[in-house]
Amino acid sequence: MIKIKTQNELNLMRAAGKLTADVLDLMREKIRPGISTLELDVIAEDFIRRNNAIPAFKNYRPSREMTPFPASICASINDEVVHGIPDSNRFLQEGDIISIDVGVVLNGYCGDAACTYPVGEINQERRNLLDVTQKSLELAINAAVAKNTLGDIGFAVQNYAEKNHCGVVRDYTGHGIGKKMHESPQVPNFGAAHSGMTLRAGMTIAIEPMITSGKYDVKVAPNGWTVLTKDGSDAAHFERTVAIYEDHAEVLTPWQ
Ligand code: MG
Repeated sequence: MIKIKTQNELNLMRAAGKLTADVLDLMREKIRPGISTLELDVIAEDFIRRNNAIPAFKNYRPSREMTPFPASICASINDEVVHGIPDSNRFLQEGDIISIDVGVVLNGYCGDAACTYPVGEINQERRNLLDVTQKSLELAINAAVAKNTLGDIGFAVQNYAEKNHCGVVRDYTGHGIGKKMHESPQVPNFGAAHSGMTLRAGMTIAIEPMITSGKYDVKVAPNGWTVLTKDGSDAAHFERTVAIYEDHAEVLTPWQ
């Protein structure tokens, strides 16, 4: 069922979203060659808890077959697309790209956001991938208005990414968000314009293109969580939680 949020709920979503964005802005400051992904996780978790919120990803378990996710952020480097597990032995290196995904629960409402950051100086191909992915998210947000459809959002991402010779990951999607991190509907990053469910004012969704510099096929690592590109190409992931209105979408996770 699609939940339409009240004004009061939107205020709570805005607060949760702002805190989520603040975590990412803190990560941007801390990312440098030599830091481990576990150090980033500790910094993020501490910040979330000091702000009276709960790290939504910690111990998240989508199904019985899966082990609970052990950390507060997902930290996915280079060919890792999403769900990378922070590790005390995984150190960032000059030239890497790292996708940080974070979710918080504040006063019973969720925020979800992600951004891919350069570690020091990165090559032109990686710069392009980041630019294309972020731009595809902007275009998708522009399409996220009442009376447009889910297909309009997916088309906006796919059309721009493929025009720029990038791959659009199919196996993972954005989602509705509210009291729960994952609510209906699913929000695919591909599709045909004017197709699928019609968007309504008061819906809150997380839009999160996962884009590769090669083919779009992915695989899951033996740890059961980390998603990698099959062909070893790089991947980027940008995500914002947004609220849909009649004539625009409000970004609830305004990371810089
Ligand atoms: Mg999400």
